[in-house]
Parts: sequence; C-alpha cells; structure tokens
Amino acid sequence: MNEPLLTIVIPCYNEEKVVKETVAQLSIVLVKLVQEQLIHKNSKLLFVDDGSQDHTWRLIMEISDVNPFVTGIKLARNVGHQPALLAGMLQARKYSDCVLTIDADLQDDISKIRDFILKYRDGYDVVYGVRNKRATDTFFKRTTAILFYRFLKKMGVHIVHNHADYRLMSKRALDELNHYKERNLFLRGIVPLLGFRSATVLYDRKERFAGESKYPLKKMLTFAFDGITSFSITPIRFITLVGFLSFFTSGIFGSYAVIQRILGYTTPGWTSLIISIWLIGGIQLMGVGLIGEYIGKIYKEVKQRPHYAIETDLYSVRMQAQEWLSSPAPSMTDHEKTS
Ligand code: UDP
Ligand code: MG
Repeated sequence: MNEPLLTIVIPCYNEEKVVKETVAQLSIVLVKLVQEQLIHKNSKLLFVDDGSQDHTWRLIMEISDVNPFVTGIKLARNVGHQPALLAGMLQARKYSDCVLTIDADLQDDISKIRDFILKYRDGYDVVYGVRNKRATDTFFKRTTAILFYRFLKKMGVHIVHNHADYRLMSKRALDELNHYKERNLFLRGIVPLLGFRSATVLYDRKERFAGESKYPLKKMLTFAFDGITSFSITPIRFITLVGFLSFFTSGIFGSYAVIQRILGYTTPGWTSLIISIWLIGGIQLMGVGLIGEYIGKIYKEVKQRPHYAIETDLYSVRMQAQEWLSSPAPSMTDHEKTS
C-alpha cells in the first residue's frame, strides 16, 4: 500500500497562546509517522483560522514559512467551530487520502493518531475518537454532556457516544459529506448518517494547556438545541401530543362544569378559569415557539448561504506547488525535437 497522505485539520479561534506548542507537538507526531512509513511525506497540518481577532493567523503564516508541515487557510470571519471544521475538511479532501480533525488545544490525546492511521489502513473510512472517561472535565460539563447524549438519543438523533470532533475520515467519506448541503451543521450527527465502515479509538481527554474555552454555556446550549432540531422532529410531535392531551383534559373538565351547572352547584369558578387560561396559553406559546424554531431552520436552508468564505488559502498553493514539483518533467514535444 502506498503511504496515504494525511492532513490534520485544526480549527483555531483566538488561539495565539496555543498555536506554537500545538505545531511543535503535532509536527513530532507527523515526523514519526512518516519515518515509520505509515503516512506520506507530504502530509500536512492545516490550520483553519476562524476569523480570530488576535495574532493567530500571523503566527500560522510565520510558522508555515519555516515548517514544511504547516499550512493554513484563513476564513473571512468567525463562523464557529463546526463550519470551520467543514472548511478545513473540504479543502483538505482535494489533496489528501485521509483527513483527521482535532482541536487546537490538544485536549485530545495525540499519541493515538497512530491508531487512527492503522485503522484507516485496515480499510475503515471513518474512525471516531471516543473518550474513555471525563475525569478532567468540570463536574458541570460532565453532567451536562451526559444529559445531552441521553436527550439526543431520546429525541431520535443517533450519535456516537462520547465522541466529539476528534475523527478521521477517508477522502471517499468526505466526498460523500460534501453532498450534504444543509446549513445547520451538526457534524456528529451527519457523519454516522454517511454510512461506510467505521471504527473507534479510545483515548483520555486532557486539560486545555493554555488559553480558555471558546465554548461558554450559551454556545453549548445553542449547539445542543441545534443538534436536536436539525436532526429530529420528535419535539414537534411531542408538542402535538401535549396539545391533544390538553384538549381531552379540557373536554373532561368542560363536561364536569356543565353537569355542575345543570345540577345547580355553580361555583365561583375563578380559580379554574385562571389556571386554564395560563395552562392553555403556555402550551400554545410553547408550541408556536417550537414550530418557529423549525421554520427558522427552513428559512436558513432555503437561502442556501455558503458556510464560510476563505480569505487566504496557503494550503492549496503549497499543495499545488508540491504536486507540480513531484510530477515528472514534461517530455519534449515533436515540434521541439525537430527544431
Ligand atoms: N473554535 C473555532 N471557532 C469558534 C470557537 C472555537 O474554530 O467560534 C475552535 C477552538 O479554537 C478550538 C476548538 O474549536 O480549537 C474547540 O474549542 P474549545 O477548546 O474552546 O472548546 P471546548 O474544548 O472547551 O469544548
Ligand atoms: Mg477544548
């Protein structure tokens, strides 16, 4: 088997504190893999600068001048983790046999990259990094994550348990992913839908070694909500069910009230009235809100806006130059031979 060309995609948003160390550590991994002849020597680290406001992009450019493994693309503005990952993967797919995605803070165990490659070489198209335990996370993050997975499952979204976006995909799988044109990106939900043979690699997740999390609670909640409403219509069904239940309940109460009236026991009725107004009002608002959420999604989908815009693409330039240099020199044309 020829050595596969691996590209490691690393999304970065204001990561000036970690970029250098990340490059250093990942370069060592790549060098070792190349020496072992497990990957092609043109394998790359592809940094995706997700519209950082700090010096992240300048650092990436500087390092790419001196380190042949490092290249980058710069997105025109901050689009978020998922679209940034997609930008990197779809760009990398053009020149790579397989693409690995990992966060810039190296919380995911990079010594396992070798295992990802071995699985790929065994013929798996998708390899999921799965976390062994969540000991390094805060109690809050750990519990919310567990609840999130449970809830998703209940809602009919099938994702790989304890898998974030530490994942290897073959070119074939990425080509397929490219056909998924949806705007509401939730890669963890889409990738299992692609099919293909998949395997998992277990690892321990570490602390972020510098900088701070770019995922505050608000972003996490949005992400969770998007995950659910992009993949499942169970919430809408649930609301319909609640609607039916309240309808029947009010029917029963209504008959009770009528009977009471006929029998002449008319009660003041204020309490029940107020309660039902609030109850029905609440349910209606809930339903309308939820339907609105889906309509919002449809609104986004029909616009078909692009996920991202690439401002600078060092990566393609570098890969094209490499391809050009390694291709055999053009042979003399007949015209040149005779003249
Ligand atoms: N990230 C990004 N765009 C964003 C937010 C985050 O590209 O808008 C990147 C970030 O630089 C990091 C990865 O996504 O490489 C994961 O973010 P972070 O480590 O802050 O999340 P956590 O590990 O705390 O969930
Ligand atoms: Mg992190």
